[in-house]
Amino acid sequence: MESKFDCLILNAPNVPRSEQSILIEPVDALTIATYVQHFGYSSAFIDLDRFGLAPLKAETRRFSLGVLVYDYYIPLHTASAAKIFIDIFLKLREVSEFILIVGKVSSYLPKNMLSKFPELYGCVIGEAEPVIVDILKSGNISNSLNSHSSIVSRKNDETPSSPPRQKHVPNIYEMIPKSGPIANRALCRIHDYIDVHSIISSRGCSGACKFCSTPQYWGPWRGASPELVLAEINHLKSFDINKIIFLDDSFSDDPERVSAICELIKRRRIDFVWGCLCRIEDVSKDLLFDMASTGCKWIHFGIEHGVKDVRMSIGKRFTNRRILEIIGLAKSFGIRLRTSWILDLPGATPDTVRETFKFIKELGTQETKLHFLAVRPGSFFYREKNKEHSFKSKHYGLLDEISIHTGRPNNKVNDNNKKIVELLSKFRLEMAEQGYQWVDNVKFWRRFNDCDASPDERFLSTVVTRYGLGWS
Ligand code: SF4
Repeated sequence: MESKFDCLILNAPNVPRSEQSILIEPVDALTIATYVQHFGYSSAFIDLDRFGLAPLKAETRRFSLGVLVYDYYIPLHTASAAKIFIDIFLKLREVSEFILIVGKVSSYLPKNMLSKFPELYGCVIGEAEPVIVDILKSGNISNSLNSHSSIVSRKNDETPSSPPRQKHVPNIYEMIPKSGPIANRALCRIHDYIDVHSIISSRGCSGACKFCSTPQYWGPWRGASPELVLAEINHLKSFDINKIIFLDDSFSDDPERVSAICELIKRRRIDFVWGCLCRIEDVSKDLLFDMASTGCKWIHFGIEHGVKDVRMSIGKRFTNRRILEIIGLAKSFGIRLRTSWILDLPGATPDTVRETFKFIKELGTQETKLHFLAVRPGSFFYREKNKEHSFKSKHYGLLDEISIHTGRPNNKVNDNNKKIVELLSKFRLEMAEQGYQWVDNVKFWRRFNDCDASPDERFLSTVVTRYGLGWS
């Protein structure tokens, strides 16, 4: 009798596929594939965003579960990706008994997903790894899919249709005590991506920024132990990888853990360069020094607005003085910096945007990323917007507004936004005089396919940026 694999995990492709010159292996989807292996089940993995649909079309093995990962941890999928889900599901149906989808959109809009895609059996609500393992462990997949409290299927639509904000969620990093859920990079063609590779060493965030889906979707912050982080760094080093980006939404949420990770890197003399996404309120002079002296070459800080009141009103609780201090310290330790900003936040006006631009110039970070507000499923703003729309259309929000940033206002265009766009055009010219290269098309990054940027090379972007430039 033909033997059957347990799981086929697919990373969804974008439409068009994501720009290959920025693409890192999708470590979130890879972690799901690995997690089931840690529990003794067989899994295979295909990254459709990197390799297109051909490897799926060529698939001849049989699987119990086919799982499409769409907008899970890494925020790179656009709404238009769903245009080809039909093709994916039709092929997936030929090789797998049941089809599930994982990620934020399917967690918040499972019934819309199920009604749009008849081949889909169910939507996993929230964190997927333990749910998929539960299903496999049950011994009766069909029953389990219809009774699991974190799955919405056509037969169990009583299930809550979005992940509630939980106070206590299991720490996924402690569920497999010896090895943790380290993503097995041997499952993907790791050298077919760019030269910087990724680790996600924590989930959740203790912050509460109103535009961000992380606190609700992932819950409170949970991190891998410093030893486990070291094990994952060594796993990457075994593939000759020497440039690592920690893609944690809030890498510095526990500053003592960062300090302990630095201590281990130092003690074990691990030689590599790395970057991460931190919060202004978490880092200190000592921590930045430790980070820089263990190879940290790049930090991203989400600041969002230059006027404190606007920033505070969306949940970013730090002053301009604190920002200046931290940016100054990081620069003095030779760390390259990226800051990100949302120009059209509620409460923003042309005057606050002028102040923001002035502040950005004063900070002078090598990379500056300018956004317009994207209303992401799971965020406070998304919940507010859905309240507004719920009586107008029960289908509002299926795939309307999840987006990577486009460089133009996502909200309805009003006079405020028009003026902000005008100010941005002027600001772009002023920044060009200061040596900033304008990046409004992701294809810009192709020029770095075969070379690095210089450590002081400056970018002002409105689109997804490439990690790992200028870290040498
Ligand atoms: S934007 Fe960053 S700091 Fe704010 S809630 Fe999200 S992950 Fe936390």
